[in-house]
Amino acid sequence: MKEVYNVDFDLEPESRSMIDQRIEGAIGSVFVTASNPVQAMIRAEFEISRCGWRILRVKAPVAKVVADNFKNRDLGLKFFKKAQEDGISIIFLAHTPDEELHTGDEPVSIKAPRDIDLNEHHKIFSKIRSKGKCLFYEDSCTDIIDAHSIQKGQSLKQIARDGQVYGFSPSLSNMKKTKGRIPLVLQGINSISTFRGLCQHHDNLLFAPIDDTPLLPTAEQVFLYSYRSLLREVFTKDYIVEGLLRQLENYDGGKAVGQRLEGLMIGNAQGLRALDWHKQCFDEAHKLRKFSDIRFHCDPIEAESHHKNVVFTGKKS
Ligand SMILES: [Zn+2]
Repeated sequence: MKEVYNVDFDLEPESRSMIDQRIEGAIGSVFVTASNPVQAMIRAEFEISRCGWRILRVKAPVAKVVADNFKNRDLGLKFFKKAQEDGISIIFLAHTPDEELHTGDEPVSIKAPRDIDLNEHHKIFSKIRSKGKCLFYEDSCTDIIDAHSIQKGQSLKQIARDGQVYGFSPSLSNMKKTKGRIPLVLQGINSISTFRGLCQHHDNLLFAPIDDTPLLPTAEQVFLYSYRSLLREVFTKDYIVEGLLRQLENYDGGKAVGQRLEGLMIGNAQGLRALDWHKQCFDEAHKLRKFSDIRFHCDPIEAESHHKNVVFTGKKS
């Protein structure tokens, strides 16, 4: 289980932030769950700047806290528990000479800013993803299908129960339920592990030697397994970059999240360039039917019983 860390900062409002500019400064006490103090500090700094504050200095260094630290300190205990539940809570103790803004002794609760409309975010990415594009190296095609990155017939069906298998589900509604963690969810084998990166014609043309013939494996079959995983990665990275670019074009939220989005876009674009280089090598090898360049190690797993229950795909460059 993740621990709760606490860190206090001296703060001032960022210029042009949503904070009332009559406020001169504040102490921000952040309670955050994390695996270690470094992770706690990174998250605390990000959340503070997301709320429109600039950190002047660390007032009390990051430290692990437990409920016993807050005996007879009701407010501290309340925020400690809230962090345990939600992953984060922050107390701001702000000062201003303007009496109009004085709130007395009772704390006032403030909603965290929403820089991104998650539904809109989801809509943008779903639209690009479902449009799809054929990644075959020749022709331009329109008849895009949901191609399986893990074979349905020879792999998924082998482990399915009532046509379903467990797989990671990064859907928005599931991640809301699990507070950001990616859960394992039962999914139908027609839709799991699919990507819209090929048309029907090219999916058949490229992958018949592994879809229609048992795995021996030949050099060509090994090549095609790697190729399909690579195409899936290229497709995923490509639509993420496009989605982030589109989101940045219309972004009007705070600076901290804007910078995070831009960093994500730059990182993913860099990853896409590297994948494109690999794809060109694979495309060329496929065009020339030069499968002998692939070196591989085949290590069949002999299950004690014949009941196998895991299949996977992936790319290792
Ligand atoms: Zn095609």
